[in-house]
Amino acid sequence: MIDFDTVTFELDPNKFNEAVNNKGNVVLTLEGEDLELELYETYVMRKDPKVIVEDESGIHFIDAPYFHTYHGKVVGKEGSRVAITTYDDIFIGMIDIDDNPYYVELTKGMVNDKTVHAIYRKNSRVKDPAAKPAHCGVENEDMGVTNLFSFEKTATLSSRSTTQIDILPCYDRDFKDIYGSYTAAEGDITNMINEVNMEFANQSVQLTFNYYKKYGYLDDNTSQGILDFFKEDIPLYMDITDSDLATLFYGDEFINETVIGRGSVYNGSSERAYSVVQMVEEPNTQYDADYDERCRLLGHELGHNFGASHDEAYNWTIPSMNYFTLMWTPFYFNSTHQLKQIYSDGDVYGDQNHNNSEYIIDHKATIAAFRTS
Ligand SMILES: [Zn+2]
Repeated sequence: MIDFDTVTFELDPNKFNEAVNNKGNVVLTLEGEDLELELYETYVMRKDPKVIVEDESGIHFIDAPYFHTYHGKVVGKEGSRVAITTYDDIFIGMIDIDDNPYYVELTKGMVNDKTVHAIYRKNSRVKDPAAKPAHCGVENEDMGVTNLFSFEKTATLSSRSTTQIDILPCYDRDFKDIYGSYTAAEGDITNMINEVNMEFANQSVQLTFNYYKKYGYLDDNTSQGILDFFKEDIPLYMDITDSDLATLFYGDEFINETVIGRGSVYNGSSERAYSVVQMVEEPNTQYDADYDERCRLLGHELGHNFGASHDEAYNWTIPSMNYFTLMWTPFYFNSTHQLKQIYSDGDVYGDQNHNNSEYIIDHKATIAAFRTS
């Protein structure tokens, strides 16, 4: 449960974009505080986005809205981070200051033809301390094949140039229903990918996309059942779109389990390019599918696609508080298991046996070549 304020934005996304690209900072007033944002455009989306729809008459490519995406910081706030997505009157994002981020999310509501947004801070989330944790469904024994690939730990990490990975985001009708409109649903997907990119930037990986695949209502199933369906169905569309990875944003609960996501674990084969993520709360668990939980889940399952594992997830304690890197499962809300400390990187958030960052760096070039025409 979240206590939040609702707002609408009078936003001209083109002017906003012009201001950013002319190095002008943008001032955003939140809770009476003027925050000066220093942003740069991240181009998560390619120029000419399409939605893939299949019906009796065949496969169709329909024009989709172009969302501007940004990263940046708040001027004068050390360690601050900003990720924003805009379109029309839509403004989604995270402004992380003072270790207590603001989240701006969409609601289904409209006032005077304007989309109503919810704004809240991380610390205002009300959570049930007795709730069980939710889980990632990837078992450590699934990692067997990965062990065939071992790495010499090198003093300097191999490649620091940015590797672009083409992702094919997919969603079902239940996911669209969460948001009320296709535009809002697609905007939220774009924003989640933009958030995850902020973390993958540590490994010089950038996810980018030009297509969504839209499904109708999918039958209720377990996470494994949905992943199996997805693995069977999506390769054709990945070939058509030259996509390296595919994620299904699932708008319903996986049945009979507290599992909220699965990602196939990297073994060098393009048959391990899939993930499914539950985008609604898992009742009676700590997973409420709120803004940063959805982003974390996406980053976690994509992490498996890159060869990151639970075994190498790292945790540490700074008096009275446990911290976990993103590959930790189960999901807890009572720590800064937030997107900030994502992959253990050998120096700061890990050690030589907890270094998921290295797997991502070592595998990214192979993944980027999964499908190229
Ligand atoms: Zn996992």
